[in-house]
Amino acid sequence: MGKSLRLARIRNIDVKAHPTFLLALLWVIYYWGYEAGHGIQGVLFGVFILVAAFVSVVGHELAHSFVALRFGLNVHDITLLPIGGVARIEYVSLTPRQEIAIAQAGPLLNLIVAGLLLPVIIGILIVRDVGGGLGAFLLLQETGFSALIIHLWLANVMLALFNLLPAFPMDGGRIARAAFSAIWGRLRATQVAVGMGQVLALSLIAGGFLLRDVSLPLVAVFILVAAYVEARMIHIESAMRTLPVGQFVLWDLGGVQPDSPLNYALRGGVRDVAVTVNGSVVGMLWREAVQPVLNSASKLRVRDVMDQNVLTMDVDTSVYDVHREMLQTGRPAIPITEGGIYRGIFTSDRLIHVYRYLQTGKSPRERYRGFAEALGLISR
Ligand SMILES: [Zn+2]
Repeated sequence: MGKSLRLARIRNIDVKAHPTFLLALLWVIYYWGYEAGHGIQGVLFGVFILVAAFVSVVGHELAHSFVALRFGLNVHDITLLPIGGVARIEYVSLTPRQEIAIAQAGPLLNLIVAGLLLPVIIGILIVRDVGGGLGAFLLLQETGFSALIIHLWLANVMLALFNLLPAFPMDGGRIARAAFSAIWGRLRATQVAVGMGQVLALSLIAGGFLLRDVSLPLVAVFILVAAYVEARMIHIESAMRTLPVGQFVLWDLGGVQPDSPLNYALRGGVRDVAVTVNGSVVGMLWREAVQPVLNSASKLRVRDVMDQNVLTMDVDTSVYDVHREMLQTGRPAIPITEGGIYRGIFTSDRLIHVYRYLQTGKSPRERYRGFAEALGLISR
């Protein structure tokens, strides 16, 4: 979503509009200016409604984001699409309870807004002496302040109800998944929630045909794509939980020595590298720390720049746990040991090998073995 237009920045979260958001604007101008026959006044009113609806959407996504921030998760940005908003939140290691707290925050905010508007709506209906449904319907065709408030109220009620549907990727689907995972485990629970999303999408497509409405199938496509992405992510996640990190570490010559001159230690290029003495990890040489002192490096030794705060993990730890530790500690690399002896380094670059393994079923070591066998370097 690189070409999205940045509208605002709230607590370090970019609020952006996707280029296709322009479609919503064009539709509003067409509908309120031409179809409803209100001319320029209608166009202005349509833009007001659009702004009101999308303020509600941004509020919904911000509510998710603020709860996520409170749990220490990263929130990248919020993007507005013609059919709603998407908050890109980095979901790592959430308890079901936390996941429910984040998922319910959005619809809850819309329900609160709708609840606060309700007395105003009732006041308007009494003052305007609207008798029954037809009167309310006619009021909605107007372009005044009363109609704007009613549209705002409807937008919030619809946002809450639609998002509470118990199907992926709606918030209700996340709540259901969290609740199911206590019974079936996370993978199975996700598959069930994704399946319900697909059923919902198919009913929307059918409904679109019956009502001759194109917006329902569009929403259905969005649901199907989001459900596919989520199912894929959860599949990768569950595979990563079973893969031992030892399979993917990089030996990198066994790390560097603390007494080595920095220039010599980094002759293979500036990178995150483990500092070892007799097979034990004693520190880390971070690329970030080396880069600024590179010019004066001729006099420096590895021990002058290295980080003595050592964090190692065992070869049998899952890739998932190591990756989670990297995200939580902000370390770009973690040395991996076996019985306390250095076995190699796991960096974020190595994740590419993990993804490739999940596609081909071969780890770098196995692929190297196949390659070496083909060249006759080793025998079976
Ligand atoms: Zn939501």
